[in-house]
Amino acid sequence: MTTIIDGKETSRQVLQNLHVEIEQLKQAGHTPGLAVVLVGEDPASRVYVNSKVRACEELGIYSQKWTLPTETTQDELVQLIHQLNADTRIHGILVQSPPPEHIDEQAVILNIDPRKDVDGFHPINVAKLVLEDPSGFVPCTPLGCMELLRVYGIPTQGKHAVVIGRSMIVGKPMANLLVAKNANATVTIAHSRTADLPGLCRTADILVAAVGRPGLVTADFIKPGAVVLDVGINRVEDATRPRGYRIVGDVDFASVQPVCSAITPVPGGVGPMTIAMLMSNTVKACKLACGV
Ligand code: NDP
Repeated sequence: MTTIIDGKETSRQVLQNLHVEIEQLKQAGHTPGLAVVLVGEDPASRVYVNSKVRACEELGIYSQKWTLPTETTQDELVQLIHQLNADTRIHGILVQSPPPEHIDEQAVILNIDPRKDVDGFHPINVAKLVLEDPSGFVPCTPLGCMELLRVYGIPTQGKHAVVIGRSMIVGKPMANLLVAKNANATVTIAHSRTADLPGLCRTADILVAAVGRPGLVTADFIKPGAVVLDVGINRVEDATRPRGYRIVGDVDFASVQPVCSAITPVPGGVGPMTIAMLMSNTVKACKLACGV
């Protein structure tokens, strides 16, 4: 029988454990703090930012929400980042992606103090991930995928993992985590120019789809018994829904589920883990800053 990997429940457990840790930190005089910065009016980004701030409130993490107008200049944004770098109440800084087009996201990230880069996007943290230096910050979504594998007792050692997608947010850090010496998978990264994607994926014991193409991965991509992690969050039109759309992953769940041994659903799989890991990274940043 196929295991449905429950990201909602797993994230609830992660948050519950963090809550205890945060209470202990507070008793020792340290309150973790997160600043979330949103530039522009993108409705999806607004929803993400609000849910991150709400998660902070529920856990007792101090939070600042900065909502800046679309016409904010690069210099103004960088100025705010420097202010937050210097704010001792703030241990984590997150600039919601994507910013408006006139903002150079990479240049902004370079201005975040790497010790407060809880998204794990600063080159120092990218290097620490590759170096397997545990003091760095790992991007939240791949970190959440690894946590799901750990909680569900899914072995990675000696397994062939195929990661579809090579973004700096998901694909590449995911591949780095899987190949690291504490996971020991053999990893292949696939992308839009990969030849015979279905054939390659059929060699995977663990398949991670981080593409952004609804239902790309169908049953013919799956080796019987493989573990499938679906990172994709895609809106598809659905007139039967009140909002006129529904959210689906990159995996065609209905056809893949009977072939694989375990799978994350969308929604309710990888998605909820992302915020949980953001909270976890913020607590880690606080502990590192306070030397506890
Ligand atoms: P990007 O667009 O940055 O990267 C997509 C990757 O998929 C690229 O490497 C691209 O290849 C590859 N790709 C595109 N089309 C194909 C194809 N037909 N066959 C093989 N590979 C292909 O996306 P992200 O990594 O940022 O996000 C991926 C998905 O994950 C999205 O649906 C996003 O919404 C979701 N996501 C979910 C999160 C969560 O919390 N669960 C968090 C972040 C993202 P190439 O490099 O050649 O262009």
